[in-house]
Amino acid sequence: MPSHSPIFSESSGRYKAFCLSCNYETDDPLEFACPCNSILEIPLEEPFNRDLIESENFTMWRYLRFFPYVRKEDIVSLGEGWTPLVQYRQGILFKLEFLNPTGSFKDRGSSLLISSIHRLVKSRGGYISEDSSGNAGASVAAYSARAGIRADIYVPTTASGPKLDQIEAYGAELVKVSGSREMVTKRAMEEEEGKFYVGHVYHPIFRDGMRTIAYEITEQMGWKAPDYVFLPVSAGTLLLGVIKGFRHLLSSQIIDKMPRIVASQVEKVSPVYHKLKEISYKPPHDTKTIADALISTNPPLLDLMVSELKETDGDAEVVSEEEILRAYEELSTSGFYVEPSSAVAYASYQKWLREGKIGHESLTVIILTGSGLKRPYRDLR
Ligand SMILES: [Zn+2]
Repeated sequence: MPSHSPIFSESSGRYKAFCLSCNYETDDPLEFACPCNSILEIPLEEPFNRDLIESENFTMWRYLRFFPYVRKEDIVSLGEGWTPLVQYRQGILFKLEFLNPTGSFKDRGSSLLISSIHRLVKSRGGYISEDSSGNAGASVAAYSARAGIRADIYVPTTASGPKLDQIEAYGAELVKVSGSREMVTKRAMEEEEGKFYVGHVYHPIFRDGMRTIAYEITEQMGWKAPDYVFLPVSAGTLLLGVIKGFRHLLSSQIIDKMPRIVASQVEKVSPVYHKLKEISYKPPHDTKTIADALISTNPPLLDLMVSELKETDGDAEVVSEEEILRAYEELSTSGFYVEPSSAVAYASYQKWLREGKIGHESLTVIILTGSGLKRPYRDLR
């Protein structure tokens, strides 16, 4: 797969995405993948420029100018982004992504995606479909509700808990599918009259929204990049978006170095870690983990994640169930009530600290991705 360093082209104001494997290009924001089945990517239109920020907008839309394919009047917002960056201890900052409108970082992707497509979906008399067992489903459901479009969210029959309640409360159609996670995706993609599949795992616009996290961290730190960013990784939208954002800032000479991005995974479900370290990986039969949002054993974006990590001198780490639980307990008893899946990033950081791979003098940002209210505490004990 070819590299995709930021490409600056003439600002057209129109949507454009290109395939990372063949020469295909599209201007249709409802296309989630290339006809060759490979991944679509959105080129960056222009360098980042601090003067172009809408500084009176305290959502991720302060960076609207760097998403030239969205028209201001089309924005569907619930107040996502511009989440607090707080100091936890000397050298450690938490980015509180769990404070987004639906309780997870996914709202950045949903807001950007739904803003980009809702008029098209309406004009074609259609509706959207998405497959998710959790945060992304709830998030897409919320933004669809705000935009007044129908959303069908396909979930595995095994999914349960507050995330499903949330999806239904937003008024989305919940479609339960039995069988594997892949089966759920297949059903969500199945062609039906008026249905547009916009699965967050594939859709380039959803992923593109995550760039705003890199912009915010840098702006909130006084236009400096941290030394390290630890984040949990499953499907890869957060990882790829954050890398793209920092690369954009670097190539625009806003920052002078790339932070080291550490992709944090659960031991049982760790394809990125294994591929990056060139160790063969066979997912165990039982992939049940307390970090229940991180269950992609074979993510479609795997090759891209590994090549982006390699190109930017990133790294990966794995943590055990025990380590996740300890990190989760430390976070909650310090007042940060997050999902166990979010604790995975902090657990990785602690492991690096224990192993002397990182010092207290480094400046580290840990992204806390999802709210603790998404998973009942009693289920963990
Ligand atoms: Zn292609």
